[in-house]
Amino acid sequence: MEKVDLLVTGEMLVVSPDESAIAPGAVAVDNGRIVAAGNASDITGAFEARKIIDRPQGLIAPGLINAHTHAAMTIFRGLADDLPLKAWLEEHIFPAEARLTPELVALGTELACAEMIRCGTTGFVDMYLFEDTVASVVERAGLRAWLGEGIFDFPSPAFPSGCIALKETERLIEKWAGHPRITITVDPHTPYTCSGELLIKARDIADKYDAITVIHLAETDWEAGEILARSGASPAGYLDGIGVLNERLLAVHCVALGENDIELFAQKGVRVAHCPESNLKLGSGIAPIPEMIEKGVPIAIGTDGAASNNDLDLMSEMNTAAILQKGLKKDPTLVPASQALAMATTWAALSLHRDDLGALRNGAKADLIVIDMAQVHLRPCYNPVSHIVYAARSGDVQDLIVGGSILMEDRKLTTIDEEELLSRIKTAIKLW
Ligand SMILES: [Zn+2]
Repeated sequence: MEKVDLLVTGEMLVVSPDESAIAPGAVAVDNGRIVAAGNASDITGAFEARKIIDRPQGLIAPGLINAHTHAAMTIFRGLADDLPLKAWLEEHIFPAEARLTPELVALGTELACAEMIRCGTTGFVDMYLFEDTVASVVERAGLRAWLGEGIFDFPSPAFPSGCIALKETERLIEKWAGHPRITITVDPHTPYTCSGELLIKARDIADKYDAITVIHLAETDWEAGEILARSGASPAGYLDGIGVLNERLLAVHCVALGENDIELFAQKGVRVAHCPESNLKLGSGIAPIPEMIEKGVPIAIGTDGAASNNDLDLMSEMNTAAILQKGLKKDPTLVPASQALAMATTWAALSLHRDDLGALRNGAKADLIVIDMAQVHLRPCYNPVSHIVYAARSGDVQDLIVGGSILMEDRKLTTIDEEELLSRIKTAIKLW
């Protein structure tokens, strides 16, 4: 018998969204990686583990990746609702953010990490402020993360100029290089809050370090009109004109696209982070996801920040993504459950250029969840992938593992003291 760090056994195992479930299933983990995933009796017969998580009514699945959020914005959850994006941002969020401190960002990020762990999220892509602080919180919480300091032409609460935020980005890339779970990205905020010159400088830094660039793009009709007036092109066409579209670009939202933009994304290899609930809540519209999938554009999924969603629940986000297009286009075959789950797993990994994430294969990072199937709303179960997208709720996630480390076991968080965190949140909000 081969000795390994961890064995997870369950009633069912979903290796990836496209494969039939294995029942019963098991995963053997050693040194942070999956060494075997398959039929439970084969795995338990071959491996002896120092730690066993045995869930006879559990569904083992890949951990979910939230491809776009602003984690610390949990602090602003419910601060301002039911407003257009521009008024919401300029009259409420930007003034509130002007009073942010690294301490508040740390607190909001910790709250977000706890929420994401409870929602089955093993990794997330964050664009915000004071990202060095965010990285330290994420390091302690144990999640995997892609973190980018928000870059604007005007002073941010963290930095007096875009150029200084870019310098900080470069410093962070070098500081966190080689970290097993934390990757730094280059994050110009939008094409309308960054000048062309700043966008090109950001691209040059991303090129130098082979880093992912994250940008909000074509979120609203207002943005499309603004960029058309400034440059004569759509937001995507404008970025292409200045040489910013490439396969390391993760474009967030992509709702207000021009006629040729999807073709352009396909040609340039651009990846898209779809945030359907934020787009719906802010009245921005609905991204043409089936059209992008048809052209082979990789689609990941994100919750956006908790101020515009108002939660970080990727389980409900997958559900929304799957049913939204069906209703809009009156076609129930669009965005089937397997595609909605792929957006949070295999396609998310593709979007982040990671072939060691998103599916529970030998050699992959051991980022996985167990869903407690002993629930009245989850029985019977004919198709586990359908259940993850259409029937399961975030509260059904029982265990969560990142890189072989258990961050939640039987619904108890191991790296975050929730009671103490909630009391710190209460105190901080009173003072703030
Ligand atoms: Zn956003």
